[in-house]
Amino acid sequence: MAKYVYDFTEGNKDLKDLLGGKGANLAEMTNLGLPVPPGFTITSQACRHYLAEGSVPDGLEAEVAEHLLALESAMGKKLGQADDPLLVSVRSGAKFSMPGMMETVLNIGLNDESVHGLAKQAGGNDRFAWDSYRRLIQMFGKTVQGIDGELFEHALESLKGSRQDTDLSAEELQRLVETYKGIVREQTGEDFPADPREQLRLAVMAVFDSWNAPRAVLYRRQERIPTDLGTAVNIVAMVFGNLGEDSGTGVAFTRDPGSGHQGIYGDYLQNAQGEDVVAGIRNTIPLQELERLDKNSYDELLQIMEKLENHYRDLCDIEFTIERGKLWMLQTRVGKRTAAAAFRIATQLVDQGLITLDEAVTRVSGDQLAQLMFPRFSTEGERKLITKGMNASPGAAVGKAVFSSERAVELAAAGEDVILVRRETNPDDLAGMIAARGVLTSRGGKTSHAAVVARGMGKTCVCGAEELEVSTAERRFTAPGGITVGEGDIISVDGTTGEVFLGEMPVVDSAVVEYFEGSEPADELVRAVDRIMRHADAARRLGVRANADNPEDAARAVRFGAEGIGLCRTEHMFLGDRRQLVEDLVLAADADERQAALDALEPLQKSDFIGIFEAMDGRPVTIRLIDPPLHEFLPDLVELSVKVAKGDASDKDRTLLAAVKRLHEQNPMLGLRGVRLGLVIPGLFAMQVRAIADAARAVPGARPEIMIPLVAAVQELEAVREEAVAILAEDGVDALIGTMIETPRAALTAGQVAEAAQFFSFGTNDLTQMTWGFSRDDVEASFFSRYLEMGVFGVSPFETLDRDGVGRLVRIAVEEGRKTRPDLKLGICGEHGGDPESVHFCHEAGLDYVSCSPFRIPVARLEAGRAALTGDSSDTR
Ligand code: PEP
Ligand code: MG
Repeated sequence: MAKYVYDFTEGNKDLKDLLGGKGANLAEMTNLGLPVPPGFTITSQACRHYLAEGSVPDGLEAEVAEHLLALESAMGKKLGQADDPLLVSVRSGAKFSMPGMMETVLNIGLNDESVHGLAKQAGGNDRFAWDSYRRLIQMFGKTVQGIDGELFEHALESLKGSRQDTDLSAEELQRLVETYKGIVREQTGEDFPADPREQLRLAVMAVFDSWNAPRAVLYRRQERIPTDLGTAVNIVAMVFGNLGEDSGTGVAFTRDPGSGHQGIYGDYLQNAQGEDVVAGIRNTIPLQELERLDKNSYDELLQIMEKLENHYRDLCDIEFTIERGKLWMLQTRVGKRTAAAAFRIATQLVDQGLITLDEAVTRVSGDQLAQLMFPRFSTEGERKLITKGMNASPGAAVGKAVFSSERAVELAAAGEDVILVRRETNPDDLAGMIAARGVLTSRGGKTSHAAVVARGMGKTCVCGAEELEVSTAERRFTAPGGITVGEGDIISVDGTTGEVFLGEMPVVDSAVVEYFEGSEPADELVRAVDRIMRHADAARRLGVRANADNPEDAARAVRFGAEGIGLCRTEHMFLGDRRQLVEDLVLAADADERQAALDALEPLQKSDFIGIFEAMDGRPVTIRLIDPPLHEFLPDLVELSVKVAKGDASDKDRTLLAAVKRLHEQNPMLGLRGVRLGLVIPGLFAMQVRAIADAARAVPGARPEIMIPLVAAVQELEAVREEAVAILAEDGVDALIGTMIETPRAALTAGQVAEAAQFFSFGTNDLTQMTWGFSRDDVEASFFSRYLEMGVFGVSPFETLDRDGVGRLVRIAVEEGRKTRPDLKLGICGEHGGDPESVHFCHEAGLDYVSCSPFRIPVARLEAGRAALTGDSSDTR
C-alpha cells in the first residue's frame, strides 16, 4: 500500500518530488541535527489523488492520525487539549518553490477552551493566546472557508486605529475573536469549527485545493512549472514568535541574493508570527540588529547558516522563529537569486572549493545570462531622482505609472509600457506584475513578495521606497520635494541601484554585452561570466551558429562567439529599393523581361554575399535561397483595387492588379514559396547560386553552403540540386548543398531526402506551424492565452520546441537521414535554436549545431555547455 505520510526523520532533501521542497528540506535539517520543530509531511501523491478523485486516498486519515499520535507523544501534549494544547501549522510545499502562491494555516488546535490553556502555557500571557486565536480564525476563514480576507482586515484595522497590532490588549483581542467568529457565521452560515481534528482535516484539504487557485495556476504558467505535480502538506508543531520581546521571526539569506556578495542578509521582526515579515505589517529590522537583541540566538543562527551553505553547497534562504530566546528553523531551500548573483555565487563557490567549474556552469542559466545582457540607464544627461528604494531585482524599466494590477494589465494589453506602483504587492498582483515592465513598492524589504516574485521573473523591481506615499485609491504617489506622480506619468526605475527617476531615462548596453562585443572584462561580475562561458565552450558538443543576413549582424555574431552562419535569409536582401526589381521579375511578360530583371539583381546579390563572407572570415555560411510567399513583394491587393476602382490608376496599375489577383493565395504560407518558387520561376535560383559562386571566388577562404527551403519531396531537391551543381562546377567553387527540414513530409521521408542533401537544417518555425496546423503569424495573438490557461501546453510551441510532436519528427529525420548518409550535417535554424530548453533537446537529439539570432548566441553557447555537463533535459530554470 502507498505510504502517504512521512515523519521529518524519514525524509531527505532528495525527496522533493514526493515531499515537496519544504518537507524534503525540513527533513534534511532534522537529520542534520538542526533545531526543527517536530512534524510530518503528507505527500504530493496524496494531493494528486485528492485533486483527481475529489476525495483523499484510502488510508490517509489513519496514517495522519498515527503520525499525529507520535507527534503528540513527542511533544507530551495533545492537539487542542484544553489545559495545555499542542498547536500545529499546516503548510503547503510543492516540488518547485511558489512563494506565497499557496496556503498556510497557523495555530490549528485553538478553540474557546484551549485558548485558556495556551495562555497558561505561556505564563499567563492572555494577550498572546487571544492574538494566536484571532490569527487562526482569520487565516482559516480566508483560506479554508473562502471568506473575503478584507472583512477580517477591516475589523482589525478599525480596532487598531493608528496603533500597531502589538498595542492591542488581551481584552481587545478577545473582542476581535468574537467579531471574527461573527464574520464566519455570517459568511458561511456555520460556526467556526471548534474541533481541532476537524480544523486539521479541513486545513489539509484547503492546502490541496490551493494548488489550483488562480494565482498558483498563473504563477506556474509564468515559471513553466508543470501543472500536474500537486503540493505536499507539512504539519508542524507550532513555535511562537509572538510571545513577547524575547521572541520574533525572520528570514535570512546565507549571502546577498541581489548581488551574490557574502555577508548577512535578512529581516527580523520582534514579537511577530510567520507571515508578518513578508506581509509588511510592521517595518522589519536588519538581521544584524538581532545580535544586539539576542546574541545567543544570533550566533547560533550564523553557525547554522554556515552549516547549511556548506551542506547544500549553495546559497540558502531560511525562515526562523525565536521563541523566548530559543531558535527554531522553520524552512530552508536553495534560494532564488538575481542573475548577477547567480554568476558571482557560482564562481565564489568554485573558489571556496565547494563546487567544481563543471557544476558552476550548471548553476547558472541562459535566461539569467540574457538578463545580464539587458540594458541599463545611461549616467549621462539629466537625472531627476525622486527617491531611492531597495534594489530588489535588476534592470532598467521605463513606463507609465499605474496603481493597480488591473490597470497594468489593461494598459499593457494596449501596447503601453507600465510600471506597477503599489505600497506592497500581494499574490493577487501577479497578473499586473507580469504585465508591467517594472515594479515599485513603498513598503517591504528584499524578502517581500514584490522582491521575491520579481526576481524570479527577471523583472526590474525597486521595493521599500519608504519616502513615497502611495495612494492606490487616488492613483498617485507623492515624493519628497512636493513631487506628485499620477497614473500615466512616466517614471524610470533602476532595479540595479534602487533609484527611481521622473520621466524617461536613456538606456545603455550592459557591461556583459560590451564584454561579448570584445571589451576586456570590466568588473568581477563580467569576469565570472567570462570564466563560466569559457568553461561552457570547452564542454559543449553542439556548435553555435548565427541567423544573420547582413555583414553587421554577421560581424556581431562572430564577436558573440558564432562559429558560422546557420541561416542567411536571402529574401531580406530583396526588400527596400530592390523591391521593384523583384516585382519586375515576378510580373515579367516574357523570358527577356525576366532575364533583364535577374541580370539587374545578380550583381547586387553578389555584393551582399561578399560582405557576409568577409565578415565571417573563413567560417561556414549557410545561404538559403529565396523563400517567402510572393505577395510579400507585390503591392497590396486591397490598396491597388481601391486605386483602380477610384479611377485614378494608370495602365500599369491595372496590369499590376490583374497580376496580383492572379497570384493571390488564400494560404500564402502554404502556397508558392521556397523551393516551389525556385522551380516555377526559371532562372531565379540559378541567379542566386551564380552570385554565391562568384562571391565565393572573390573572397579567399569563403565557405558557402547552399540551402533549399520548404522541400517536401526529394524530387524537388534533386531538380534544384542538379542545376546548382552544374553552376558551381562551372565556376570551380566547392559548396555543400543541403536542405531545410521544415515540412512534416520532409522529416518523414528524410531517408530519401538525404540522398540529395549533404546537410539538413531544421526550420522549426515552419515545422511547428505545419505539425500543429497553427498559423505562425496569427495563433499566438488569437488563442494561445486560452490554450495556456487550459494547459494544452505550458509554453508556446513556437517558443520552446514541442518534444512530443515536432521533436519526434526531428528525431525521425535525424535517424533516417543519417542512415542514408552517415556524415550528414545536422542543425537547427528556427527560433528554437536560441531557446534554452530547445538547445538541450538539440543536444540530446544529436544535432551538430544550433543557429540563432546574434544576441542569443551567448545563451545558446551556455546552454549547450550545460546540456553537455548535466545530460539533464528538463531543468533549464
Ligand atoms: C523556419 O521555418 O524555422 C525557418 C528558419 O525559416 P523561416 O523562419 O524563414 O520560415
Ligand atoms: Mg521556414
